[in-house]
Amino acid sequence: MEIRQVGVVGAGQMGNGIAHVFALAGYDVLLNDISEESLAKALATIERNIERQVARGKVLPADKRAAMERIRTTLKLSDLGQCDLIIEAATERETVKQAIFEDLIPHLKPTTILTSNTSSISITRLASRTDRPEKFMGFHFMNPVPVMQLVELIRGIATDQETVDTLHEVVRRLGKTAAHAEDFPAFIVNRILMPMINEAVYTLYEGVGSVQSIDQSLKLGANHPMGPLELADFIGLDTCLAIMNVLHEGLADTKYRPCPLLTKYVEAGWLGRKTQRGFYDYRGEVPVPTR
Ligand code: NAD
Repeated sequence: MEIRQVGVVGAGQMGNGIAHVFALAGYDVLLNDISEESLAKALATIERNIERQVARGKVLPADKRAAMERIRTTLKLSDLGQCDLIIEAATERETVKQAIFEDLIPHLKPTTILTSNTSSISITRLASRTDRPEKFMGFHFMNPVPVMQLVELIRGIATDQETVDTLHEVVRRLGKTAAHAEDFPAFIVNRILMPMINEAVYTLYEGVGSVQSIDQSLKLGANHPMGPLELADFIGLDTCLAIMNVLHEGLADTKYRPCPLLTKYVEAGWLGRKTQRGFYDYRGEVPVPTR
């Protein structure tokens, strides 16, 4: 099935990155949000980020202009009715996502593929509440979308092969690489990454190493570009905790129990870079370990 027009629901951090890469790849993009301010902010962010690619010689100025012209915004979900593909990238709350699909469905063509960028909600469950579970998939982009090469494609129990093949081709046209995952908690990347970060926090909690020695060990001893605690601060400690809880509850295995120290940092509101404090304090010239 050919995809031309793409509807992106939610114009936050992920939604603007998704609109950016689809427009540059030649798709017409209709970006929707409930907040006028989010839409304006998303357009400004996309313009600034593509400009940065132009400055680095990665995108031609004419392609930037064409991409910006391909993005339209709307506050009305019903405007997305003619889209061939919908990517839901709204707030990570199941009731919000369900309501979006419910409101959208009466306006859609029968062939439209529905996807969600959720990091943790069951694709099969979201799909089962729509009129087309066979045309529903998880479409999990990584943050920041224009930079990260991987896209996880998650098939629910009912997803048909044509939908999988169509999205695989879309990922290829975006110049990205797809990894196929089944619909189990946290999919592939977070299933492996988050327990590693959680274990790094346990290593700190038990006094095996300091923030600095733990990060240095993984950078120099395992060739990771960032240490696990530095990476946790980058992702957001609240997000890390939420994903550990999804793994713990969804797989009912104590090996996924969130470290009490991770919970403590979140309780303190020390969520990492976004609040200027996490395992490092970012308020000065250079990040300083907080333990
Ligand atoms: P965000 O808070 O930056 O953006 C969410 C946007 O959704 C906001 O602009 C909000 O106004 C809008 N929104 C809320 N309700 C809406 C509705 N009913 N209709 C339309 N828009 C609505 O969040 P984000 O970080 O961009 O995350 C979005 C999704 O992407 C989540 O499902 C999240 O799990 C997933 N995700 C996030 C990351 C990440 O690193 N941030 C990575 C991969 C996937």
